[in-house]
Formats: sequence, C-alpha cells, structure tokens
Amino acid sequence: MEREGFLKKMTESNEEWDFIIIGGGATGLGIAIDAANRGFRTVLLEQSDFAKATSGRSTKLVHGGVRYLQKGDIGLVVEALRERGFMLKNAPHLVKSQRFIIAGYRWWEKPFYSIGLTLYDLLSGSMSLGRSKPVSKKEVIRRIPQIEKRNLRGGVQYFDGQFDDARMAVNMMQTAIDKGASVVNHTAVTALTKDSDGRVAGVRASDTIGGVEFKLRGRSVINATGIFADSIIRMDNPDEQPLVMPSQGVHLVVDRSFLGGDDAIMVPKTSDGRVMFGVPWHGRVILGTTDVPVKEFMLEPRALEEEVDFILETAGRYLEKKPERKDVLCVFAGLRPLAAPKKNSGAAKTKEISRRHKLIISESGLVTITGGKWTTYRQMAKETLDLALKANGMEPGVCNTSTQRIHGYVSNPDHSKRTHIYGSDLPEIMKLMTENPEYAEKLDERFDFTVAEVVWAVRKEMARTIDDVLARRLRILYLDARASVSMAPKVASVMAAELNRDIEWEIQQVSEYNAIASGYLL
Ligand SMILES: Cc1cc2nc3c(=O)[nH]c(=O)nc-3n(C[C@H](O)[C@H](O)[C@H](O)COP(=O)(O)OP(=O)(O)OC[C@H]3O[C@@H](n4cnc5c(N)ncnc54)[C@H](O)[C@@H]3O)c2cc1C
Repeated sequence: MEREGFLKKMTESNEEWDFIIIGGGATGLGIAIDAANRGFRTVLLEQSDFAKATSGRSTKLVHGGVRYLQKGDIGLVVEALRERGFMLKNAPHLVKSQRFIIAGYRWWEKPFYSIGLTLYDLLSGSMSLGRSKPVSKKEVIRRIPQIEKRNLRGGVQYFDGQFDDARMAVNMMQTAIDKGASVVNHTAVTALTKDSDGRVAGVRASDTIGGVEFKLRGRSVINATGIFADSIIRMDNPDEQPLVMPSQGVHLVVDRSFLGGDDAIMVPKTSDGRVMFGVPWHGRVILGTTDVPVKEFMLEPRALEEEVDFILETAGRYLEKKPERKDVLCVFAGLRPLAAPKKNSGAAKTKEISRRHKLIISESGLVTITGGKWTTYRQMAKETLDLALKANGMEPGVCNTSTQRIHGYVSNPDHSKRTHIYGSDLPEIMKLMTENPEYAEKLDERFDFTVAEVVWAVRKEMARTIDDVLARRLRILYLDARASVSMAPKVASVMAAELNRDIEWEIQQVSEYNAIASGYLL
C-alpha cells in the first residue's frame, strides 16, 4: 500500500526534504508535481483527503472567467485561457470542451454578449476551444430545450472547459508520485519546527488513521492550505494578521432533463449581480453558485437556506421545467479563500508578491500561497516554487509542467462513457473484474458503479474512508447523495477486506459517512 509505504519512509528516515508541502488541494498538488519534476525531494501532507476542501467543490469549469472580462481584468483572463489550454492538452481524459449558451431576452443582449465573447475567444489565441457567435432563437431552443421561451430573442454561444475536479486532484497526486514525490492523505501538520535562527526548518505531523506522530525536516515549507492558510501562518507567528476571509459558494445538482440537452447555460447577471451556471456533468446538471461571506473555516461547510432558494429561484426564471427542492439530488457548499482586508498593512511582517492569488513569504521563510482558481493551479505552482527556490538560494531548475501529462492521460477519451474518468487506468480496472468476477458486482443495481472501482480506489488511489470513495473517487455523493448512502455498507465491507479491518470499523465508517452525506441532502 503506497500510503503506508510513504508514511514508513517519513517516520523512519531522518532525511532532509527539499520541499514539504502542506495541503493536497489543486494548489499543493500542482506544486508537488512541479517540484518533483524539477528533481527536488518532495513530500506533500494532506490532513484529510485530496480535494476534500475547496478543490472538490468547484463549479467544475476550466475557464478564463467571463466574469473577469466584464470587470476588464484582461491579464487574468489571458493567463487563465492559456492555462485552460494546458489542462485540456495534458488531461484530456478529465477535461473537455463545453458549449455554453447565453440566452438573450432584451434587444441589446445578443449584440453586447456577442462582442464580449468574440473578444474572449480571440484572447485564447491558438488555444481557442471553438468560435463564439450569435445564435437564433430557434437554435437556442434546439440546444437548451427547457429554456424559458417567453420574450426569448436569441442568444450567443461560446466554449469553455469542463472537468472533474476531485478526479483531477487524485490523478495529480499520482502524477506527483510518478515523478518521485512522497504524498500522503489523512496526515495533518500540527506544528512548524524552527532552527536556532528562527527559520522554519520542518513540520510536526500526525497520521490521523494510524495515530502516529512524527517530525520532518525540510529546506523549504510551503503552506498551500487554501482557506486554512491562517492556521499554518499562526503556527509560525501567532500575532500575524488574518490573510483569508472565506466566502461560501453553493451548488445544486438536478437531473439533466432540467436543461434537456448537452449544452450549458450561463446567466451573465443574476439579481445579485453574479454569474450563474447550469452545466451538464456526469449525466446531471450542476446549478450555481452563490457568494456569501462566512466566518467559520470548515471541511464540511453547509448550504444556507437562502442560498438554495436563490439558486432555485434564478434557475426557475430561465428554465421552463422549474427545479424545486424535491428535485435536488445533491447540495454542496465550498469556501473561497478571499483575501482579508488588512487592518494595518504596514505592521504585517510579510511581503505580498502577487495580486491574482496571495503568494507570501514570511520572515521565517514559510511560503504561503492561497486564492486563485483551479484553472490557474499550474501557473500558481510555478510562481510559488520559483519564489521558494530563490528565497533559499537553490537552483531554479526547469519548469516543464506546461507539457507534463497528468496520470491517466489518453489521447482520444470517450467522454460519453462514465468510465472515461479512469483514462489509461481503465484496462487495469477491467482486468481486475476479469480476474475476479465477484468484483464486477454493482454497488447498487440502479447504477453502474462496481466493486472493482472501490478495490481500485483503495489499492491505487489512496482512498481510506467511505467518504474518500463515494465523494471523490466515484463522485456519487455529488450526483445523488441519497443513493450514495445506500451504497455505503457495501463499500465499507469491500474496503474492510482490502484494508484488513473488522466489523466495528465498518459500522463506524458507515455512521460517519451517513453524518457527512446528510449535509448534502435537502
Ligand atoms: C464555490 C466555488 C466554485 C469554484 N469554481 C471554480 C471553477 O469552476 N473553476 C476554477 O478554476 N476555480 C473554481 N473555484 C476556485 C477553486 O476551486 C480554488 O481556487 C481551488 O480549489 C483552491 O485550491 P487549494 O488547493 O488552494 O485549496 P483547497 O482545495 O482548500 O486545499 C487546501 C488543502 O489543505 C488541507 N489542509 C489544511 N490544513 C492542513 C494541515 N494542517 N495539514 C495538512 N493539510 C491541511 C485541506 O484539508 C485542503 O485539502 C471555485 C471555488 C469555489 C469556492
């Protein structure tokens, strides 16, 4: 078992790592790939599971951000469009091109959005995913059969990327390992260690499954913990001002019949001035999102009633088949690590490097990166590593992540099949079933998820809890939370056999999973 092997190596050897990365979301995993690729001895510790926090709860778009175009932030859009191209090229089994329609109900909307989206397309240059263009009323209805037809005047089509965020994180973890990094989940950093000059020289960590506590020495420690960034910064300097102020975004998942086709809709301006999406995903539709400041930093944030009402009400305005609470298959909330306003910027003992995301180096040498977007993870990783290397007087090496294929890469994935998410690993999963016919058994007769996928998730994808399997490997929690609860006991028994656990463990796991899943049900 790879996880346990890495933990053994970490606890038993006293080697000095070049990089200790805290956090296994998009940002930390991106840094681990880049660091390992440049030949550095790299370790990554994730307190829960890969993409358990913000990175598994996104709108699942790989995009330049039409919203930023509206705000005139061209530089950010150009950078994100370039990164979108790299993601599509390097992980085609998980990222695909998606057509979006903006429906126009007022005379000026069609020409206005046509101009904006033509510019959006032009900014992507040679990495364009398809031409933006105005479309007739008939065409809008053909593409989105359930669109509200009253006063509809036509629309505009444009293309963006769409992906499976948590699967991408899992495959990024495997890529980092393929390149030589040691990566573990369910292992929390509990303290930073310092040398006699007060420089950060390592971490204390705790394996939350095995209960083992250990220390690691590192030349550079990178804090890539998203909304939790301040908790690590305070381990370094308890008096440091807060860097992050979380803002919650909620999504609802409904049946695909609410759009009625394969195209997505984008509402450029909701009643609260935001952008709202309705995007087909794994045979369902994701509706969202919201933007509500919150005070608590949680791994399992919960949607507020008013957020649910707002999404249903906004979707209902644009769709003839109006979603209601009873139609919601899953509700999930994610927290954005927005920059906290500085009370007294002169007092902060940190140096701000970038505005798009927050990249900061403290006096003790701790490097913190937070904010940004999934889409720009690779660029953020590069900047973070370049800064950490410079600060430590280390050779920069060559960053070649723009051409680094992500584990599972296949050149011609068939996105019409659910199993496309496994990419080049699929034949291995099929082989498991051929060699062990009992693994072909379905977890639930209504779905095509098999026992083999659970076995694979444990053996090859580091899944250690039912939540790891159902939420982020199979994704059924996000597609149909109630159905996922019915699969939990079967998953527990398959995992127990793989991990050599007893019936008490199974009971405990099912009970913990039910508690988590209850937060995804309306
Ligand atoms: C609602 C919403 C929708 C979004 N939609 C999109 C989108 O469609 N496209 C896009 O490009 N971007 C999107 N984003 C932004 C994107 O999701 C984030 O920028 C990205 O996921 C942040 O990744 P991260 O690795 O920085 O943080 P996280 O994913 O939060 O990862 C941080 C990790 O650090 C771990 N950690 C914390 N403390 C410790 C510790 N002490 N020890 C070890 N590990 C620790 C956590 O468990 C967590 O897994 C969206 C964000 C939100 C909130």
